[in-house]
Amino acid sequence: MTSEDTRPQRPVPRSGILDIAAYVPGKSKATGGAKLYKLSSNETPLGASPKAIAAHQAAGAALELYPDGAATALREAIGRAYGLSAERIVCGNGSDDLLHLISQAYVGPGDEAVYSEHGFVVYPISVRAAGGRPIAAPERNLTADVDALLAAVTPRTRIVFLANPNNPTGTYLPFDEVRRLHAGLPKSVLLVLDAAYAEYVRRNDYESGIELVATSDNVVMTRTFSKIHGLAGLRLGWLYGPDHVVDALNRIRGPFNVNAAALAAGIAAIEDRDHQQAAADHNDLWLPKVTAALEALGLTVTPSVGNFVLIGFPDLAGKRAAEADAHLLAAGIVLRRMESYGLPHTLRMTIGSAEANEATIAALTAFMKG
Ligand SMILES: *Cc1c(COP(=O)(O)O)cnc(C)c1O
Repeated sequence: MTSEDTRPQRPVPRSGILDIAAYVPGKSKATGGAKLYKLSSNETPLGASPKAIAAHQAAGAALELYPDGAATALREAIGRAYGLSAERIVCGNGSDDLLHLISQAYVGPGDEAVYSEHGFVVYPISVRAAGGRPIAAPERNLTADVDALLAAVTPRTRIVFLANPNNPTGTYLPFDEVRRLHAGLPKSVLLVLDAAYAEYVRRNDYESGIELVATSDNVVMTRTFSKIHGLAGLRLGWLYGPDHVVDALNRIRGPFNVNAAALAAGIAAIEDRDHQQAAADHNDLWLPKVTAALEALGLTVTPSVGNFVLIGFPDLAGKRAAEADAHLLAAGIVLRRMESYGLPHTLRMTIGSAEANEATIAALTAFMKG
């Protein structure tokens, strides 16, 4: 090395990578309490389908074999469940994998991708990882605002990400609003509809996006097995998109991006309609109960159509979100802090088992009255 060598003394990541704030997962440990209630990651209290668990165990008998890299049987099972062409489905190692692949395929240095202000944090992470610039559009009442999303689109925009319903707010856009968003986008912009919580929504004006994908060239819908199917630990997601997008993503994805146990469990899970229904029924019962109980304590609950609620705390000493979090942790209850979403006065609570919901309501009652 000569004295003129101005190269760094160690390898340096590409521009933008070190601007990424690493994803902060939900805590899985409380500070006290005999029993732990983890309500921090929108996991289902019903667990996985017993059929999925059996399929996963059976897959353990042949771990030396590579999985089917094309995920054919799983894509066909998803296609049967939703009436979709298996050719237009791509499976991923969680929908996170698919979101990263979409950003890698469509965003490069100098490009932008738009998402709503309190949208899922994986969108800006994946856009930065691809060298692009994430642009947050303001929301209205903690809900995505179509006019603001469209106003944020520039000639550099390559993707618009919309979680519908959104995490962490729990709010959703009726489908006529999603159509209006799509109609206002240039044909060159890819609209990504992340429908991770679609199975929980009970609204007549909601659609996950299947029809819009089928009838346009620039829309994809992503789905996950992590939420209603209870397979978060296996990492499995899928997307439905136009042929040309499916082709691009298949070129860059890992050739075996979904493992054999996830493929087997995913098929059993998608076919177990009764288990999905039981999880949806549980949520239908508890979402309104939890909402009403928290509102009765004087807390604000953003109207949610998902399996979680965003709880607003007063900005008053002794009653703040961070203090509530500490109080709950001491009782063995783990909710999600929302600082990384720019919502420091809130906590997000997953709808848990009857016992977990009741314990949380009791602990928050003591906190608010204390
Ligand atoms: C939980 C969640 C997902 C699912 O991610 P996986 O990688 O499939 O576990 C996707 N999008 C949103 C908005 C979520 O909240």
